[in-house]
Amino acid sequence: MRMQTDGPLCGCGGHGCLEALASRTAIERDIRQGIAAGRKTVLAESVSDGAGVIRSNVLRRALEVKDELVQEVMTRAAQVLGLACMQIRQLLDPEVIVLGGGVIEACKSHILPIVLEVMASDGMAKRGRAGRSSSPAWATTRWCSAP
Ligand SMILES: [Zn+2]
Repeated sequence: MRMQTDGPLCGCGGHGCLEALASRTAIERDIRQGIAAGRKTVLAESVSDGAGVIRSNVLRRALEVKDELVQEVMTRAAQVLGLACMQIRQLLDPEVIVLGGGVIEACKSHILPIVLEVMASDGMAKRGRAGRSSSPAWATTRWCSAP
């Protein structure tokens, strides 16, 4: 799902896809870029040795200690995810949108409120033109996540 015409390169070969902006891989890329640019983060030491991936539980712990870089990157990713959910709702009006994966499981307390906030800002929903899933009750009671 293309979110930006000139966004970062995606694994599919395109640019600006949802995956390239909001996946764990994208979050890790942005955190590493922040560290390279001199930003301070509790993750600096763990990624400086080039070791492996930044796992979802590591992101959760960084959010719990209110790490500014991780909060900023995760918020931006959640906003893009919220826009994607808004577009899905506008186009398909599904009864349920299922968000799954390790990052959602580990960091849902940070991500989901932002997704819901973005969806609530939808002008079509505010005017009651976004179909059955336009009510805030839908947004707060229909979230679930895949195992
Ligand atoms: Zn792609």
